[in-house]
Amino acid sequence: MSATAEQYFPLVVPATSLLLGLALLAGWRSVRGHRYLLWLAAGYMVTAVPLAAQILMDTPQLATWSVLTGALYCAGSWATAQGFALRSGSRVSARAALAVSLGTLLALLCFSRLNDVLGARIVFLNLGMGLLLALALPVLFGRDRADTLFERLLRRTYLLLVVYALLRPLLAGTLAGWFSSSGMPRSGLWLWMLAFNLLLNLWLLFLLLGGVAQQLMGELRHERNHDPLTLLLNRRAFFQIAHQRLQHGTAAHWALLACDVDHFKQVNDTWGHAVGDNVLRQVGALLQEMTRPDDLVARFGGEEFVVLLRCDDLPTATRIAERIRSGLSQMRCSPAKHTLTASFGVTLVAGAEDLESALERADQAVYRAKHEGRNRVVASPSPGAAGNICPTPSTAAVAQPDDAARKATR
Ligand code: GH3
Ligand code: MG
Ligand code: MG
Repeated sequence: MSATAEQYFPLVVPATSLLLGLALLAGWRSVRGHRYLLWLAAGYMVTAVPLAAQILMDTPQLATWSVLTGALYCAGSWATAQGFALRSGSRVSARAALAVSLGTLLALLCFSRLNDVLGARIVFLNLGMGLLLALALPVLFGRDRADTLFERLLRRTYLLLVVYALLRPLLAGTLAGWFSSSGMPRSGLWLWMLAFNLLLNLWLLFLLLGGVAQQLMGELRHERNHDPLTLLLNRRAFFQIAHQRLQHGTAAHWALLACDVDHFKQVNDTWGHAVGDNVLRQVGALLQEMTRPDDLVARFGGEEFVVLLRCDDLPTATRIAERIRSGLSQMRCSPAKHTLTASFGVTLVAGAEDLESALERADQAVYRAKHEGRNRVVASPSPGAAGNICPTPSTAAVAQPDDAARKATR
């Protein structure tokens, strides 16, 4: 490699840093709401400037411009730390960052203007950058657990970046003797260190963008499976999860509960669609509150809800439905504080292959409940069981739920 090529080849590092920053900027623009990407983009792009300047400068120029390049390095490290802290929902202390930056710049000023000592400048600059990056460590390691491999790798890589920044002057001083040398920018070790820094940052970016992609996939999966109004499972997800449960939980008994709010159209007509939406949210929340966490509660559309309950027999399922019916009739819907009733159909589910037919039976039972005056529970036995659809008494005649039902509803 010619001397000129050798001098300019390291420019590949700031150029890559700039490109990484642009990639993060593009990521921020396409995934709005992830403001930390903007800070990280700033971190990479700002750092690219002093890096390039340092490569192009000779040693006397390095001393002349050390405070300005130092300020840019500090700003870049601060932005990177802020980006990582924001990613975890926090911020780095501005006072601490300012104190470290000013201390670093003061040291650079002393060791360039008062006493030109390259080694001291290297030590203080790297110490300052390392400390600035370290400001995000309490946020990264002190808060919620890293529950994915991506997250764990990302946090450890960041720690490595901090440790590397702090150890860099030690390596430079002891291995390369830069502290007394004037040929620092062209030393072989310096190039290796630049290359290592570059690889570490590329790896960090890969993890960062991988994390963003994983988060987006999770959000999309959640959107695909949930009803946006009530945040309950939608019909598609309900069937998928219910099938899995019924296939694998062969020892358990299951019941299906279908519920349709009575005269819901009147709610919309009287108080407006927005109040209607709010009422649906309240109904969904009540259904979740009155069932166990591992029961499946879904909104099938409009004002129709379905619950898959783990329970032993039809009378118990009916009592659970009665409790919910009673709870619903006591609910005061905001903002108008009006009351609401619903009609219920319950049936047992024999297994995964019975799910569709069970839903049909529960629907028919709801239809029967509507027909018989609404605000009631109708139980529909499975085809093999004795007897036909059997309505339970309406509100006034409902028996108090026994302990089994009470337990099952919590
Ligand atoms: P019934 O007692 O026979 O069930 O009468 P109903 O009025 O509840 O039933 P109907 O099927 O006549 O009306 C259902 C209403 O639910 C009509 C529709 O505008 C309303 N609806 C469906 N989805 C939504 C929604 O997401 N938000 C709101 N606010 N209303 C909805
Ligand atoms: Mg309906
Ligand atoms: Mg209805």
